[in-house]
Amino acid sequence: MKSRVPAILYLCLLMGSGSLVANEPVVARRMAITFDDLPAQRAQALPEPKILAINEGFVKTLTDQQIPAIGFVNEGKLHVDGALDPARVRLLELWLDAGLELGNHTFSHPELHRTPLEEFQQDLIRGEPTTAAWVQEVAGIQE
Ligand SMILES: [Zn+2]
Repeated sequence: MKSRVPAILYLCLLMGSGSLVANEPVVARRMAITFDDLPAQRAQALPEPKILAINEGFVKTLTDQQIPAIGFVNEGKLHVDGALDPARVRLLELWLDAGLELGNHTFSHPELHRTPLEEFQQDLIRGEPTTAAWVQEVAGIQE
């Protein structure tokens, strides 16, 4: 039977524990938690209650565990039948109300490696209006 000690030692070293090595300084490690494709992957195919439950679940877990995080929004998923849907916008305001951050993740999530640069840039800009307004609001920037 193989010993589990080397695996545990290796894991501790990976996690930055300095206590296993004499005179080794303890290094503070930080991790960024991000969520892509908000309000949800395949949002156009999911029922609204499911999208709400997904976002409420993320926000509850992150706030309960005091995990700072940022969600990246595909603004195209905030549109229903070609128009910005206030209910989906409110959905993402759950994140902001909880002190979490949001950022632009393009309008339609084009594949970077298969999309001409200018087309990608236009999609990025198109994905910005609502998210930019949130960022300005959070930062206290007035236009
Ligand atoms: Zn993505």
